[in-house]
Amino acid sequence: MFFVLKPEVDPKTRDRFLEELRAKDLTPLAVSGKGGRVYGLVGPSSVLESLALDRHPLIEEVIRDSAPYKRASRAMHPDDTVVPVGPVRIGGERFVVIAGPCAVESEAQLEAAAAAVKAAGAVGLRGGAYKPRTSPYSFQGHGPEALDLLAAASDRHGLPVVTELLDATDLDLFRGKVGALQIGARNMQNYPLLRAAGRSGLPVVLKRGLSATVEELLLAAEYILNEGNPNVILCERGIRTFETSTRNTLDLNSVAWLKLHTHLPVLLDPSHGTGLAELVAPLAKAGVAVGADGLIIEVHPAPAEALSDGRQSLSPDTFAQLMRELAPFVEAAGRSL
Ligand code: PEP
Ligand code: MN
Repeated sequence: MFFVLKPEVDPKTRDRFLEELRAKDLTPLAVSGKGGRVYGLVGPSSVLESLALDRHPLIEEVIRDSAPYKRASRAMHPDDTVVPVGPVRIGGERFVVIAGPCAVESEAQLEAAAAAVKAAGAVGLRGGAYKPRTSPYSFQGHGPEALDLLAAASDRHGLPVVTELLDATDLDLFRGKVGALQIGARNMQNYPLLRAAGRSGLPVVLKRGLSATVEELLLAAEYILNEGNPNVILCERGIRTFETSTRNTLDLNSVAWLKLHTHLPVLLDPSHGTGLAELVAPLAKAGVAVGADGLIIEVHPAPAEALSDGRQSLSPDTFAQLMRELAPFVEAAGRSL
């Protein structure tokens, strides 16, 4: 729910009232740009209902809304949030492309991928050091050595790194090496991990869970925001449906819906979203059209030899071609690459 204070309420009375709400386990959140008169209120619904705020002498109006998330809501923050990832701003006028291998496999592999994506116009480098694999017998990532390789490639090419955090106890290894943490689809509802990412002070790319609704995605974002970390970037990466012709079903609805209902930037991952390299370019273009703020794309110097996700990885040449083909779509959307 939201409430609007009467215009004559002075700051001291207001602050005392806000304190009373906090004492009841409620969190009043000032809506930006409203001069401290409009608040979102979150807390247990039983307490909210028992308040009878409609009849409160300090309150002009109560606005009920069904959205359980508040900090992530555009109602709280009408302007787009722009998240800085190293020197890159995500969610602003510029359409960003973050690219790189699914996993860091070797120094040579990462260097070839980083040089290629940089030359083609990517502004960020992706690559997993810790891989969440369906099978425990699959390649699990090179861990700390891979983080060092990512940091070195980042320095050489001026590309901030986005890489997945699987375990909060590894956080210290990531510091100073990455531009943003990725919370992967499988961990979207790992609440202790979300809280740790929130407390890390690092920007977070939060990927949608395989069978999570967009409301659940925004509530997951809320866990990070609640720790005082405003730098959350959402990522649609496809959901599991009855369809089997593609690895996942890339939900373009969610991108358009999220852009209406949240101020947070939204990226699209057509690599995991389709699982098929030949579908990455068309879905990337669709992503521009539905209002995504950027893309995350898997690129491998030799996709056929990749240790993970080779079938959906672009070669350096196909990635460069995609970047060229993307330009007119980005321009038509009123943005720049
Ligand atoms: C990845 O980015 O390589 C990855 C594992 O993504 P997701 O969590 O979306 O499956
Ligand atoms: Mn992958």
